[in-house]
Amino acid sequence: MTGYADATEGELAEPIELMEFRLKVRAFLAEHAPRRSTRRDDDGVVTASAAEDLATQKAFQAALADAGLAGLTWPKPWGPGGTAEQQGIFGEEAASYDLPITTFLIGLGMVIPTIIEFGTDAQRARYVGKALRGEEIWSQLFSEPGAGSDVASLQMRAECDGDEWVLNGQKVWTTGAQVSDFGAVIARTSLERPKHRGITMFIIDFTAPGVEIRPLRQMNGGSGFNEVFFTDVRVPDANRIGDVDDGWRCAVAMLMNERVAIGSGGGGRSIGVAPLIELARRRGRLDEPLVRDGIVDVYIRTKILGLIGQRTRAASKAGKAPGPEGSVAKLVGALLARRTSDLGIAIAGVGGQAWMDARDSRWALAVLSAPASRIAGGTDEVQRNIIGERVLGLPKEPQVDRELPFKELRVGTQSPRA
Ligand SMILES: Cc1cc2nc3c(=O)[nH]c(=O)nc-3n(C[C@H](O)[C@H](O)[C@H](O)COP(=O)(O)OP(=O)(O)OC[C@H]3O[C@@H](n4cnc5c(N)ncnc54)[C@H](O)[C@@H]3O)c2cc1C
Repeated sequence: MTGYADATEGELAEPIELMEFRLKVRAFLAEHAPRRSTRRDDDGVVTASAAEDLATQKAFQAALADAGLAGLTWPKPWGPGGTAEQQGIFGEEAASYDLPITTFLIGLGMVIPTIIEFGTDAQRARYVGKALRGEEIWSQLFSEPGAGSDVASLQMRAECDGDEWVLNGQKVWTTGAQVSDFGAVIARTSLERPKHRGITMFIIDFTAPGVEIRPLRQMNGGSGFNEVFFTDVRVPDANRIGDVDDGWRCAVAMLMNERVAIGSGGGGRSIGVAPLIELARRRGRLDEPLVRDGIVDVYIRTKILGLIGQRTRAASKAGKAPGPEGSVAKLVGALLARRTSDLGIAIAGVGGQAWMDARDSRWALAVLSAPASRIAGGTDEVQRNIIGERVLGLPKEPQVDRELPFKELRVGTQSPRA
């Protein structure tokens, strides 16, 4: 293990047990994680294309679990029961690495915490440990072609047949389904009840007969998400998460976890200011006031996002369910992604926009990828609605469809025009 000699002055002011934890994390990362610098070109730009193959990710996740550093703040016995401070320290130490963990973010950041909270003991015993070690990969299947922001208007049906459910319908934008083993799906179990109160959540096995996955191509060239079709897919009742018709409660909890995870940079994907400084220096523009102003703006927003992340982790450790601060974090993260990529492409200039230089073309890729963060996990507009209503106390949007039985709705997916 690295000695105390490596510690900075600020770190030495930490309580001894946190200092020991920091050194443990530092030693683990030094041994197992690829450093960011190893994946930068000579301008310091982090490459987006570095291979993170599944085997590498699984091996890293298993090592993380063995070291007691996976699912850090999950309660015992499911996780190590770590503190918010420890999570913060892990984030600080991991900032200079590219952790090969993207495949597990949905499972570990969103689905499994929901199973820990709402699932049965049998489900927790069966799924939590394998997910934590990266042995099984999970997806989240909420969105449908007609139900995204208003996901409660979903049309996918689940009908009870003895001790099984029969699922029919289509999901879309399912991230990682092509490599996943399991997914958490929400489906309509009652047409008689209002739309939020007739939904149930299930665990689905992607290898079950009747499940068909079709990858989608994105504008940035990737194909990370999919359409998933369900035709008479049989799901045992033992795979139901939470009560029948109470899936909305589980879905909201999962969406809150998602916003916190995206907003607090769970993927470690925030570009940061170092590549901007390197780019500006190479282009001879580092002394331009507007460029400096832009870089300082990105720096401040990155720091603010880090502080929001600390606050949400502390709230969650204190036993508070993720609240509207998740929406604030998500919104700030999405705005930061756009500002960073806009500034990068502005500094790179025409060459970057025309993909003329392999190094600068990375900024064009960042511009094409940034809009995804404004949509995934609830759009910027939806986050603003939540902040307006739940933080600022503004009146709620009028909702004509909240109390009517789903089958009587004439709006959303039930609209005669839909
Ligand atoms: C990268 C990425 C990954 C994703 N991964 C998943 C996944 O793994 N699983 C999954 O289930 N889904 C996933 N999604 C889907 C995502 O949740 C939806 O795209 C999102 O909720 C928006 O829904 P929509 O695309 O149907 O847009 P719509 O809901 O049709 O929205 C269209 C426009 O109308 C605006 N709008 C809608 N309602 C309101 C309102 N009430 N007030 C103001 N403006 C409004 C929106 O802001 C948007 O600009 C992913 C999306 C992206 C981009």
